[in-house]
Amino acid sequence: MHDDERAALARLCDQLPGLRAEIAKHPAATRELLARIESRARAGEPVRALLDDLFPPDQAGVTRTFEALPSLGPGRSSEERFGCPARLCDREATTKPAGPLPRCWLTGRFMRRLAG
Ligand SMILES: [Zn+2]
Repeated sequence: MHDDERAALARLCDQLPGLRAEIAKHPAATRELLARIESRARAGEPVRALLDDLFPPDQAGVTRTFEALPSLGPGRSSEERFGCPARLCDREATTKPAGPLPRCWLTGRFMRRLAG
């Protein structure tokens, strides 16, 4: 899969909880679009074009929410690193030792521990 697609998937996965909450306030057509994006993403299919439909540049509301959500930065060495359980995207999350396992929002599964 193209790097841009993987990056889009990582961002989508990371921000999905906030995005779902935001999209729930939008009309049915928008909610269906997000559902379609999610199912395509889970199937490993490209979603960037659909994401562009979901966030047209002239509709600042949704876009602003999506962009404003914090993404997870690189972890510190004392933290454990986790990756996408379905290997769909390059998203990485960290957790404190003995902390709760991070979850992949796209698949609803716990993320897998990465070596090193
Ligand atoms: Zn994921």
